[in-house]
Amino acid sequence: MLAREIALPVVDPFLSLRVALRASELGQSNFTTILPDSGAYWAAYEKISEVNVHLNILERLWAAWYQYMENDTLATGIMSFVMHELVYFGRSLPWMIIDRIPWFRRYKIQNTKIPTAEEQWKCAKLVLLSHFTVELPQIWLFHPMCKAIGMDTDVPFPPWTKIAYQVAIFFVLEDTWHYWFHRAFHWGPLYKYVHKIHHTYAAPFGLAAEYASPIEVMALGFGTVGVPMLWCMATKDLHILTVYIWIVCRLFQAIDAHSGYEFPWSLHHFLPFWAGAEHHDVHHERFIGNYGSSFRWWDYLLDTEAGPEAAKKRREKKLAKEAAKARKAQ
Ligand SMILES: [Zn+2]
Ligand SMILES: [Zn+2]
Repeated sequence: MLAREIALPVVDPFLSLRVALRASELGQSNFTTILPDSGAYWAAYEKISEVNVHLNILERLWAAWYQYMENDTLATGIMSFVMHELVYFGRSLPWMIIDRIPWFRRYKIQNTKIPTAEEQWKCAKLVLLSHFTVELPQIWLFHPMCKAIGMDTDVPFPPWTKIAYQVAIFFVLEDTWHYWFHRAFHWGPLYKYVHKIHHTYAAPFGLAAEYASPIEVMALGFGTVGVPMLWCMATKDLHILTVYIWIVCRLFQAIDAHSGYEFPWSLHHFLPFWAGAEHHDVHHERFIGNYGSSFRWWDYLLDTEAGPEAAKKRREKKLAKEAAKARKAQ
């Protein structure tokens, strides 16, 4: 094999490409050498494992990836983009399968509106286009920005307890950001020119979670990415892995909230302040109210809950107020 004959450093992400170029120069074209050289990655992993026995497997895999890539911006960029695509489409897929199984209709909130395969494909195409044109270019700024604000990208990872409490804080902060910006997006001109795209589907489905205008993706996306950045600037205590875990949780939350299914085992039955699909589906159906993302408390406190039950409660409250006023006047 030519790859063994040419003395190049073991840990070199472009090794196979260079070998392929050299081979073509020598007139020995070999397509297999153009494929990424996974051997170089595992060589880096072995080397790290030898001298860092205190690291766990996940930490070794992480460190080997950065060493293998030899370019931190590229390493973070590829990892972020691939993770987002895998989680987004991977989490949407079970919902697409459920949509095709009639037994699940009993749990569908708006059970007369099952999305067709064609509708879902159209939605997936726009989401993919947005991922490649709007999100991908920004992802390349992610690593330099993390470094500039002092985010830790190295091993070892922080303890799980710290990751858990920071993710919990991000949930609360993002929901607050989301409530106010989402509510603002329902103001006439902003709705008409920006948010209307997201409301294309009155009966949402998992894939529609990120079906939105690029302006909306950036404004509401700030709650997901900007909030941890601000937290890091204020505390100087955040690891990029925590941000990844938070983003995965947030993707699950957003996709599930758009799934259109309400089960007896849905989370809000156990955590009454959790929003879930039942909460967001009504928002898509009625266009007004239920602006929060993960929790119900802002809508409850500010009286913006949607649906017939909330409207009934509001009506009763208004009537009681009027009756009290009339009694006072007598
Ligand atoms: Zn909306
Ligand atoms: Zn929505």
